[in-house]
Amino acid sequence: MIGLYIHIPFCVHKCVYCDFPSYGGILSYRQAYVDALCREIDAWEGETVADTVYFGGGTPSLLTTAQFAAVLTRLHRKFTFSADAEITVEANPDSIDADFAAALHHMGVNRMSVGVQSFNDEMLRFLGRVHTAEQAVQALLDIAAQGITNISLDLMYGLPGQTLDMVAHDMDMVRSLPVCHASIYSLIVEDGTVLKNRLDRHQVILPEDQAVETMRKKVHQSMHQMGFSHYEISSYAQQHRQSRHNCKYWQYEPYIGFGVSAHSFDGQQRWANISNIPAYIRKAGKMSVIGEQVTITRERAMEDYCYLALRLRDGIHYDDFANRFGVPLAQEFGHVVEKLMEQKLLEPTADGCRMTADGLAYGNYVFSRFIR
Ligand code: SF4
Repeated sequence: MIGLYIHIPFCVHKCVYCDFPSYGGILSYRQAYVDALCREIDAWEGETVADTVYFGGGTPSLLTTAQFAAVLTRLHRKFTFSADAEITVEANPDSIDADFAAALHHMGVNRMSVGVQSFNDEMLRFLGRVHTAEQAVQALLDIAAQGITNISLDLMYGLPGQTLDMVAHDMDMVRSLPVCHASIYSLIVEDGTVLKNRLDRHQVILPEDQAVETMRKKVHQSMHQMGFSHYEISSYAQQHRQSRHNCKYWQYEPYIGFGVSAHSFDGQQRWANISNIPAYIRKAGKMSVIGEQVTITRERAMEDYCYLALRLRDGIHYDDFANRFGVPLAQEFGHVVEKLMEQKLLEPTADGCRMTADGLAYGNYVFSRFIR
């Protein structure tokens, strides 16, 4: 079964750190974009049994409920969903309320992921977020009150001016709210963002690495105490509440993306849609909207499989690797695994290997060792 990703590229305002394919100030394109999405879905030819749907962005909660209904109706017409399909909508606290959550729940949405980022208003202002901490709390309570109990939030640490007490406060808020999943990231400065520009002009000072590491440990310890398992580098979940959609990316399972800049993977090929919204609206459903496409070689597939699996706490299962690729992992990457174990960045599991706690802090280095 496949996962379906629907990209909604609209935002009220661009956050200073954001390099996602999202745009502020173009809400007037919404209806034409939804119409184009529906045409792209109608034109899909391929696997039609799905068990996850993920509306990501951008800010999907900027669509109206009628626009969600239109897209979901098209998806149901084209695809057969498993009885327990996970249907997630990303939302920002300023664009969700009880009525909206109730309408989504009524349409079959059973999981929401809320972009909180911080429960400190000063940090939110710095990040360029358009909501307050109070709005975030209210949004989470509204969603739960309307019957959607599978709720995730996003948080960030390592922010300029952020203190350990602020991180501790964020953790206390997680403890007090109805969330069962959290994606918690350290701030990464991406090229081309407002934040990068401010850093280059010395208008912003990032916290020292040691301070960021202390925050990471605080997050890890607090989430552990709250009973969340650290199942992926940046993801924590209560029992059975892992993001099934995101796990498809890490477990090398197929997924299809609709919308601008959406990525797809069918096991043999990866492709990405064009990023230009007017061009997408013009072409969708009438001609191809694929911007780039690559066929995955067997060698590349083995590399991708390894570094994606290592993002997960479960790590690599040697039997699964051998079943997929017809060779034992030791034959392809034995020397890499051995070296990383010597460096205490990988450790053995009952049927494979995974990153150690130190390895998790040096994930990019570990992944790079599997790229030949
Ligand atoms: S709301 Fe999300 S997608 Fe939109 S600009 Fe901010 S970080 Fe980017």
